[in-house]
Amino acid sequence: MSSGQDFPPIGPGERPRSNFCSFCGKSSDEVGTLIQGIDRTFICRECSDLCQSVFRRQQKKRFGNRIAWQVPTPRQITARLNEYVVGQTLAKKVLSVAVHNHYKRQLFSENIGGVQLDKSNILLLGPTGSGKTLLAQTLAKIIDVPFAIGDATTLTEAGYVGEDVENLLLKLISAADYDIEIAERGIIYIDEIDKIGKRNQNVSITRDVSGEGVQQALLKMIEGTVANVPAHGGRKHPEQQYLQIDTSRILFICGGTFVGLEEIIRHRIGRTHIGFAAAETAPGPRDDVCLPRVTPDDLSRFGMIPELIGRLPVIAVLDQLEEETLVRILREPRNALVKQYKRLFQMEDAHIEFTEEALRTLARQALDRKTGARGLRSITEKLLLDAMYQLPDQVRGCRYVITKEMVEEKEPIRPLPYSTAAHRIA
Ligand code: ADP
Repeated sequence: MSSGQDFPPIGPGERPRSNFCSFCGKSSDEVGTLIQGIDRTFICRECSDLCQSVFRRQQKKRFGNRIAWQVPTPRQITARLNEYVVGQTLAKKVLSVAVHNHYKRQLFSENIGGVQLDKSNILLLGPTGSGKTLLAQTLAKIIDVPFAIGDATTLTEAGYVGEDVENLLLKLISAADYDIEIAERGIIYIDEIDKIGKRNQNVSITRDVSGEGVQQALLKMIEGTVANVPAHGGRKHPEQQYLQIDTSRILFICGGTFVGLEEIIRHRIGRTHIGFAAAETAPGPRDDVCLPRVTPDDLSRFGMIPELIGRLPVIAVLDQLEEETLVRILREPRNALVKQYKRLFQMEDAHIEFTEEALRTLARQALDRKTGARGLRSITEKLLLDAMYQLPDQVRGCRYVITKEMVEEKEPIRPLPYSTAAHRIA
């Protein structure tokens, strides 16, 4: 066997020749290196991956319902989520029950004693950087199923709705190593679901056509269809190879910030509780009180089509992260930033510690940015840039204690001699 790009020497006046994959017919110019078999047959990387997935599927058939038989209980799921996600207690509970039921349904083939058990996809509502993606991702890890993330806004931009929706499925298939059966049990997280309905907000007559079109395309996939996914992504065309995937058992988790939804809910609550006229003047309940009381009707007013809302019956609301929670996020989860930097510094035989006040100041800076926990990493990276630049050149065993003043850039970050630094440390 040899690489298909080892062409024989080219004669005078001859054009360089391409070899072609004997499976998909694409040239080495298109797909890169080809592996050569006997009699000038070739295979490209993508076709080789597909073949491998067929072999793997045969092997896995022996395990049958491996995933379904090991469905953890809601308590077990929450306990595992707690290792990675701080706070969001109610959302964790709602998700744990929904995910447990989803996989239990599969265990009983969705039909118990003639009773059809419908799929319950999930809608996550919450501010940016509050852990929506992290929750979905961690759930997939806990259940040990493939996971794919997509962004609903890219569907609007591309225009070719069907194509993009199917590319989302391709991502899942790829995460399942091209094993369709395993992919059919996976989880897809669709971010920014609120953005495709947003232009409808407060507009009752003129519906945003493109936004609704995307919602319709998503609806079909979410409620369950047998989709033809172009094996190599991109647009559909007649000669393309397709992978068929049944989406009816895939768990869809949609997330969005739904900015402005509080206002819609507040307006409704105000009207039902104290009369319409009073609602116009009274400040109304706070945002964190409003969101948990969201109804399908509010989402419809926001601009989501009712059919799509109907397919997302489990709604989990995430809280805005407070200073205290951000400090815990810096310190506690398995992959907490403080733990990561400690590890990085250890690799250079150095130590780094953060005082309690330093962590609080970092949390406050992240709060100011209004990007939730997402801002923590970039703020800390910037803070430690100089120290990390010099770290490999420092003497072994040096120790850094990061204080509030350093976070506020009032003092430079310098290593201390080993014996100093009697601060309260993280
Ligand atoms: P969202 O999807 O809500 O915008 P993400 O889940 O992408 O936010 O969060 C961004 C990053 O912030 C995550 O990778 C994680 O490091 C951190 N993060 C956010 N919320 C939490 C949380 N509740 N617990 C631990 N880390 C969090």
